[in-house]
Amino acid sequence: MKKHNFNSGPSILPQEVLEQASQAILNFNNIGLSLLEIGHRTSWFLEVIDEAKALVKELMNLNDDYEVLFLHGGATTQFMQVPMNLLNVHDTAAYCDDGIWGHKAIQEAALFGKLHIAASSKDRNYTYINKEYSIPSHSKYLHITTNNTVEGTQWHQFPKTTVPLVADMSSDIFSRNLNFNQFSLIYAGAQKNMGAAGVNVVVVKKSLLQNLEKPIPAILDYRNHIKANSVLNTPPVFAIYVSLLTLRWIKKEGGLDEMEKRNNRKANLLYQTIDSLPLFHCPINKEDRSKMNAVFFIKDEAIQNEFLETCKENGMVGVKGYRTVGGIRVSMYNALPYKSVEAFCDVAKDFSNKRG
Ligand SMILES: *Cc1c(COP(=O)(O)O)cnc(C)c1O
Repeated sequence: MKKHNFNSGPSILPQEVLEQASQAILNFNNIGLSLLEIGHRTSWFLEVIDEAKALVKELMNLNDDYEVLFLHGGATTQFMQVPMNLLNVHDTAAYCDDGIWGHKAIQEAALFGKLHIAASSKDRNYTYINKEYSIPSHSKYLHITTNNTVEGTQWHQFPKTTVPLVADMSSDIFSRNLNFNQFSLIYAGAQKNMGAAGVNVVVVKKSLLQNLEKPIPAILDYRNHIKANSVLNTPPVFAIYVSLLTLRWIKKEGGLDEMEKRNNRKANLLYQTIDSLPLFHCPINKEDRSKMNAVFFIKDEAIQNEFLETCKENGMVGVKGYRTVGGIRVSMYNALPYKSVEAFCDVAKDFSNKRG
């Protein structure tokens, strides 16, 4: 039987995406070759890239001011590539310090320019989103992490600012319908909500890339990738193809409005259940709770381990919290069915009745 997959990343993908990806490895589009053995500059593969880019723009409702890129490396690569492409040494970038991923992005950006911490929620262990931010008007951009995968917080309303907004959307991209035009640069590692590990999607407003005064390595320069249509060198072909299949699935299922509806329904059930059971404790500020990654605790650690064991016995994986945070984390990405959340809630109630 298939497991209830609550993994935080790499994580659950739609079953039909997995089947189509397997088929493409054996015989891609019935051309008599595997996807893995065709050139990345063939029309076969360029069609994959073009369709994937068009779908990203269509789902996000973006015009031609924006360019979509599929680049190597996980989101961590973007922690350095963003400031490398946007900052001259005397420039200032503002960052919100809202979780361990955002914190890592800050450390990397400090290598390329001056840093201003616009807001931090470190004082309360990153259990909320600090909306009392200050952004110097001369900042080149403001960087936020839209969903804090590890801590279980999420931005539900975005900073209103005149400086360009840059967002790490690795763990909530395509999970909800937003006005994507408010962002100047969006990046995400694919392996959480849009595909297989090995590729980043970068959506960038082209006008943002005009003022760089220094040379940077060619392979890390966004402008070169734009010119080369994401085939500057050999791209991660399989990971890009899995993203394309997932994007097609999102569109077919009803687009971002439908994803948002499903994700709201799952998150409501999960948080309502946890809040109703005294055994569990969710420390995250209610209005900042993540609809993708719910983080909560059982006070007595011995009982917590027993609960995690019970989840395992009930065919559930990925329920254990991040190593530095501990506790329980339930990730509910697009492809996770409602019935998996129901199954988890049933186990939680049952366990609570026995041990609570
Ligand atoms: C997982 C994650 C990252 C790091 O992704 P890698 O692909 O492992 O580099 C960065 N930011 C966020 C928000 C994440 O969830």
